[in-house]
Amino acid sequence: MDYYFYAAPVQHLIEEFEKLPGIGHKTAQRLAFHVLNLPEEKVVSFARALVDAKRKTGFCSVCGNITDVDPCRLCSSDKRDRSVICVVQSPRDVAAMERIREFRGQYHVLNGLISPMEGIGPDDINIKSLIRRIAQGGVQEVILATNPTVEGEATAMYISKLVKPMGVRTTRIAHGLPVGGDLEYADEVTLAKSLEGRREI
Ligand SMILES: [Zn+2]
Repeated sequence: MDYYFYAAPVQHLIEEFEKLPGIGHKTAQRLAFHVLNLPEEKVVSFARALVDAKRKTGFCSVCGNITDVDPCRLCSSDKRDRSVICVVQSPRDVAAMERIREFRGQYHVLNGLISPMEGIGPDDINIKSLIRRIAQGGVQEVILATNPTVEGEATAMYISKLVKPMGVRTTRIAHGLPVGGDLEYADEVTLAKSLEGRREI
């Protein structure tokens, strides 16, 4: 006896949704049927948004953030203070910092953290370009705003040891953030306080 659950294209769509983070089988089924019930032009527009987001963006050659123009708008802006660089783990952290509307400096996105457990070393993340950037001069402070996790702390310490001898002040954001918590999920007040309370390391 054969049992048939879904037509093959539907089954395929469910499987693709299931590959997304935080999406279990039930949610994947719900999303797939939601898509099937949409008018075709909405589905096409959704599919196009997925492909565009991937094809039309890349890493900024200066800061490592995801961008559709190179250098990115933050790096090329003349309204941003080039003497301060805030180092973060991911583009989502840049967005979190920008939401508090208090930081006027520039960013450097590591796109990862040093993690010996996962075999990720300093050369696997965007550290060399940070050092090159600082070597060009004009930078007075580097704010290490990696998450307060073991990897986040280790990465901050590693960078601080490279940057300090270059005569640049290195600071670490304060731990108003919950230990192990993500910068991107911190509320704006907590994040603003944590930036304000940064200490020299
Ligand atoms: Zn940039």
